[in-house]
Amino acid sequence: MNEISNPIEVHKFGGSSLATAAHFRAVQNIVRGNRTAIVVSASAGITNQLQALLNLACQQQAYHEKLADIKQFQHDIIQHLLDADPQCQEMVSIINSDCDAIANLLRTTQLLGSYNTQVQDKVLGYGELWSAQILAALLNREAATLFIDASKILITYRKHKQQYIDWEHSQQLLDPLLQSADFQHLVITGFIATNAEHQFVTLGRNGSDYSAAIFARLLHAEKLIIWTDVDGIYSADPNKVRSAFPLPELSYEEALELAYFGAKVIHPQTIFPAINNNIPIYVKHSGNPLAPGTKISAKCQTTDYLVKGLSCIDDVALINIEGSGMVGVSGTATRVFQVLYQGGISVILISQASSEHSICFAVKQDQANQAQEFLQEQFQFEIGQQLIKGITIDKNCSVLAVVGDGMVGHQGVAGKLFNTLTKANVNIKAVAQGSSERNISVVVERLDIYKALRAVHSGFYLSSKTLSIGLIGPGQVGATLLQQIADTAPQLQHKRKVNLQVRGIIDSKKMLLADSNIDLKQWQSQRDSVATTANMEDFINHIAADDMPHAVIIDCTASAKIADLYPHFIARGLHIITPNKRANSGNFSFYQELHAFAQQKNRFYLYETTVCAGLPVIKTLQDIVATGDEVLSIQGVVSGTLSYIFSQLGMGQKFSSIVREAKRQGYTEPDPRDDLSGMDVARKFVCLARELGHNSTLESLSITSLVPAPLQQVSAEEFLERLPEFDEQIHASLEPMLARGEKPHYVGTIDANGSIHIAIAGFGQNHPFSRLQGTDNMLIFTTRRYQPQSLVIQGPGAGTEVTAAGIFADLLRLVTALD
Ligand code: ADP
Ligand code: ASP
Ligand code: MG
Repeated sequence: MNEISNPIEVHKFGGSSLATAAHFRAVQNIVRGNRTAIVVSASAGITNQLQALLNLACQQQAYHEKLADIKQFQHDIIQHLLDADPQCQEMVSIINSDCDAIANLLRTTQLLGSYNTQVQDKVLGYGELWSAQILAALLNREAATLFIDASKILITYRKHKQQYIDWEHSQQLLDPLLQSADFQHLVITGFIATNAEHQFVTLGRNGSDYSAAIFARLLHAEKLIIWTDVDGIYSADPNKVRSAFPLPELSYEEALELAYFGAKVIHPQTIFPAINNNIPIYVKHSGNPLAPGTKISAKCQTTDYLVKGLSCIDDVALINIEGSGMVGVSGTATRVFQVLYQGGISVILISQASSEHSICFAVKQDQANQAQEFLQEQFQFEIGQQLIKGITIDKNCSVLAVVGDGMVGHQGVAGKLFNTLTKANVNIKAVAQGSSERNISVVVERLDIYKALRAVHSGFYLSSKTLSIGLIGPGQVGATLLQQIADTAPQLQHKRKVNLQVRGIIDSKKMLLADSNIDLKQWQSQRDSVATTANMEDFINHIAADDMPHAVIIDCTASAKIADLYPHFIARGLHIITPNKRANSGNFSFYQELHAFAQQKNRFYLYETTVCAGLPVIKTLQDIVATGDEVLSIQGVVSGTLSYIFSQLGMGQKFSSIVREAKRQGYTEPDPRDDLSGMDVARKFVCLARELGHNSTLESLSITSLVPAPLQQVSAEEFLERLPEFDEQIHASLEPMLARGEKPHYVGTIDANGSIHIAIAGFGQNHPFSRLQGTDNMLIFTTRRYQPQSLVIQGPGAGTEVTAAGIFADLLRLVTALD
């Protein structure tokens, strides 16, 4: 015998938690060992499929095959779960005879060309009956389990066009059943009930949540756990807002508002039985039962957020009644809503201007025409007298609701909401704030709702220092940068509230995307396992998500093709950070347009590392120019590779073996000719000259190449092999400088007119270049202010660590500027 007062947990498993045989087993694992009442939905999609059968029959179309599919699906689940069980055959027979009954109803529907709600409820209700019986049979193999057909217990009645539960009657039907048998588990059908006229009814689509709450009350449950396919109630629909996150706690009222305004994860009616008996509701993921989920209760902890959640209702129409005849005339609003009520049209939201000149309200789009007709009839006289100008419908709208107890009595939420929507270019058609102040709803164009939702989500939840980062080219520098971000991000988050989210990594073949953050400790292995084929457009769309306050592309390639895309990135709202010199040293009009476009669109284009890696060269030069100084000359050794080669040359080694050693140490490009040709140095000087406002181009330069002419076209291997043949020639060319006691360097110069010279030249002991060591770079700025003592910047100008750190510094510069 079971004491009803014996505490019991009510668990509700939605269709998504009963989609396959494996899901049923997961349910069994969750409830094992506990005393539970389990309310179930139909397996995922079954209710929709049953509805589709009705639609087909109604339209005189063939439905038999679809019905056979549903039957087969249920058979398969039974076979998988109950194979050797004596109940297996029994369950199969039940399904078969139910499907025969459905076929009968469909035949009638086909004959009549229509069906009434009674037939509809009967057909739709089978899904729950099947899943509950199958689960009961499965659980019964391990623990005493009682199956309850809720249509035999839950009694409903209608009042004011609403369906209510007859609590007393239902309790009377349930109690004897509980007393009649010993059980560990009750398995109860969700969704279905019986009305006072003894007709089989349903509680409306998605109604199993409500059933579960009703049974929680009837069973005096200590808690109700709603198991679904997400980790709780999220700050917004996770399918629409990728950065949405599960809310740890909600008050009943907050949950109700969110559910009412479209958060499908819980049916709004679920809240009422729970409130009445103060039963806490937990929403959890049946595929991830250890995650805490969301707790809904009377009291909830205060959080950092004024706004808890956002939800939206699509396919809404706004109806507007306008006219001078309404001003000061009492009762107009009453007549409007009375006639809608009588017509069974429910009003989602009302917004009346204080002038009383117009009444505006939202209804479901498919009821809009009907509502208009009712109103036209009701206000025929006023329309005839032109007291009411007209009743207009604005279709294709959506309602966005912003919900949170914290908003009560708190100023500024509405302001922030409107501001965010304005910034996102979303037009607000109507506004309503519930008197509870727990909810502000805005009506927007249907097409704008995703944008609105994401913008508002980011506005309320993410710090303005949150950055969506997409990295192109995870080679040596890119990979090092990712490592540096991984190491530093927690500290940045903690100390500076900077939230760096690397959400995409792409190379020429593959791309790896993540909604919030790629696991930077494992991105390489993930790239092998979960990455998809690279598609730059998809990548850009992902990084430039509306729900992130700011987004940046870090281009770590040396590719001209990627640089050509920068204007496109900017047009999509992305900032750009890069060590890639192509855009700044390539076609001059492209360069000019790119800079102008970035400025016009208010986007940052940061490229400190294009010249001398992490050394603060560009920034220094920009400051010199911006503060009105005049650059007289820039002289510099800007190639770490060449710097190394020339510093070793003075020590008596052969040119070819120095090149080999430099390559071995990773100082050169994979093909050392890329460095030896002087092209890289030339590009850097073009970048510097342009920074000074000169229209320099690579084509106008004569560049001394250290690659012997006969080796220009051969393979990289052959080049290294044959280089020793040219040692003598190269050494001979340097001999005069060495003989003068000077050290040769590969040097670029820009004079006051912007002319660039790039050549090998010798420098004596008292020139600053004599201090160069290893892969050092040095730039000497002589300006009106910095003379005769020049401004000298010296340090390692190559290497993955310093280059990556330079890019990282640009990233932080960007975040700081974005406040
Ligand atoms: P079940 O089959 O378990 O009843 P539903 O499909 O009815 O599941 O509800 C869960 C779905 O609700 C989620 O998968 C998600 O797509 C959607 N959803 C909409 N809004 C929210 C929200 N705010 N939080 C979580 N899920 C939401
Ligand atoms: N099976 C019903 C539906 O799909 C009820 C539910 O799942 O909650 O609407
Ligand atoms: Mg549901």
